[in-house]
Amino acid sequence: RAKQRGRDTFHVFDPNHDRLLQVRHEQRQRFVDALANDELRLYYQPQVDMRSGQVVGVEALIRWQHPERGLLAPSQFLPIIEATPLEVDLGEWVLKEAMRQLVKWKAAGILLPVNVNISPSHLLLDNFSQRLGELLACYPSVPPAMLKLEVLESAAMHDIQAALSTMAKCQALGVNFAIDDFGTGFSSLTHLRQLPVNLIKIDQSFVRDMLSDADDMAIVESVIYMANRFQRPMLAEGVETLGHAKALIALGCELAQGYGIARPMPANELPQWLAAWPRRADWNALGKIH
Ligand code: C2E
Ligand code: MG
Ligand code: MG
Ligand code: MG
Repeated sequence: RAKQRGRDTFHVFDPNHDRLLQVRHEQRQRFVDALANDELRLYYQPQVDMRSGQVVGVEALIRWQHPERGLLAPSQFLPIIEATPLEVDLGEWVLKEAMRQLVKWKAAGILLPVNVNISPSHLLLDNFSQRLGELLACYPSVPPAMLKLEVLESAAMHDIQAALSTMAKCQALGVNFAIDDFGTGFSSLTHLRQLPVNLIKIDQSFVRDMLSDADDMAIVESVIYMANRFQRPMLAEGVETLGHAKALIALGCELAQGYGIARPMPANELPQWLAAWPRRADWNALGKIH
């Protein structure tokens, strides 16, 4: 086998390695089919202002409705396509699907911005902003500000100049940005000021244990303090309980997303959830505790 690949190629024979490559290849091929066969779905998780109860947007989260394996979460298939061209194919599909959904919701009288997760390899493509502009032009009835791109702190930091330049071009189109999983990168303090973002999302791993873990509480407090100092809106992810909600409001963070408010749901379930949310008396009384 090594011989076939030619004399210039060093190839240490390792049957396990070959087998792994083969499996990866098959998994990626299966994902190509998923895209072609329309097996991907966007689920939407509401984002609310805990103080006013107002629903401020939704985050689009990818799912794979696998005919044999059922509904797959991103952790079950994103690693397979990470840093491959398929990640860009997925990203383009997600952006397009989100725009189509925005059109449908608009027709139904639902005007909520949609947050879309953008992978690092996609954001850092040379023509990202150009392609985005072309996509927006296909949906003239949707204001670009209805689209918010969630970018990982680590992605922006990987190549800060490229990220800044792309983000500026997208913002010139009217599109907004959020920094996702904030607090998990290393350059938070120094670069936050530079990043032209409209929303900072505090990573759920810190929020989850903030009430029992003093270190996590310290991180949440610091991020909220910093975001307030830089006058950037912030949103807490992973708000599962009223205890989380009350503590976050007391610290000065009013926007939230989490299972306590709503789990990610198919688009067609959102109208029902929106109708029921104002009747969630416990959550909607939060504005009155301060
Ligand atoms: P993320 O962007 O930080 O999304 C938040 C994740 O936290 C989602 O997981 C959501 O379902 C979950 N979550 C929300 N509230 C709670 C809560 O209260 N408790 C807990 N334990 N979890 C909560 P999901 O949908 O499995 O997505 C995981 C990650 O996969 C996302 O993290 C994002 O990085 C990535 N992802 C999802 N959709 C896409 C996509 O369309 N494109 C790209 N590139 N990445 C995506
Ligand atoms: Mg996100
Ligand atoms: Mg996140
Ligand atoms: Mg995450």
